[in-house]
Amino acid sequence: PLQMKAGEVRFTNVTHHYGRERGGIQALNLTLKPGEKVGLVGRSGAGKSTLVKLLLRFYDSEGGSIEIDGQNIVQVTQESLRRQIGMVSQDSSLLHRSIRDNILYGRPEATDEELFAAARQAQADTFIRDLQDPAGNTGYDAEVGERGVKLSGGQRQRIALARVILKNAPILVLDEATSALDSEVEAAIQETLYDVMQEKTVIAIAHRLSTIAHMDRIVVLDEGRIVEEGSHEDL
Ligand code: ATP
Ligand code: MG
Repeated sequence: PLQMKAGEVRFTNVTHHYGRERGGIQALNLTLKPGEKVGLVGRSGAGKSTLVKLLLRFYDSEGGSIEIDGQNIVQVTQESLRRQIGMVSQDSSLLHRSIRDNILYGRPEATDEELFAAARQAQADTFIRDLQDPAGNTGYDAEVGERGVKLSGGQRQRIALARVILKNAPILVLDEATSALDSEVEAAIQETLYDVMQEKTVIAIAHRLSTIAHMDRIVVLDEGRIVEEGSHEDL
């Protein structure tokens, strides 16, 4: 299993082309110091999602290595790896289960108090309490999916954020985690996200620079390479 220490994440010469010649990630080097918050930007197709998916081992990189606290991620169990990483993916799909089960997914033993607190932090508690599925289940017991409640993209995103807040893992990956929210809700969540990020090592992907304005460092990716990096003011 992965032995979590300070939370350093190191990509060394990482290459991944999905078996093709172009696209993907090209010999990329990037180190996040423990607790460092890095914003990842770049145009569509630059390789941002690929990079974070490699960290979670959705795929194994074709070349190079990824280490967490000095341990190569291919040498630890996938379960122990994913336990230490909270991720909101770009296409966050939910389980066809209750809202409660969806939020508890990363930490099933959490109490109701903790569940509701996470939902409030994600600006989700109010709309959840108004839900009713066709079978008559309400609130946190409402079922998600074809036979259940239909949620908007922004509502699904807030459920995914509640899940990751509750999980409270030491490494946080946010891939366009607030892109479907209106600016008012996004600003409110951004506030709590800064609290949530304290002490954690964070990679946040965003198209809007405002979303990642307060990160320690911003890295610009193009065609699988880092083409620029610096503070928000520098760029
Ligand atoms: P966006 O801002 O649109 O989310 P991105 O920077 O996240 O873009 P990626 O999803 O990492 O981009 O994709 C990088 C490149 O890899 C693209 O050329 C894409 O077509 C390709 N790619 C992504 N996923 C796969 C896959 N599963 N199989 C093959 N090619 C893929
Ligand atoms: Mg992407």
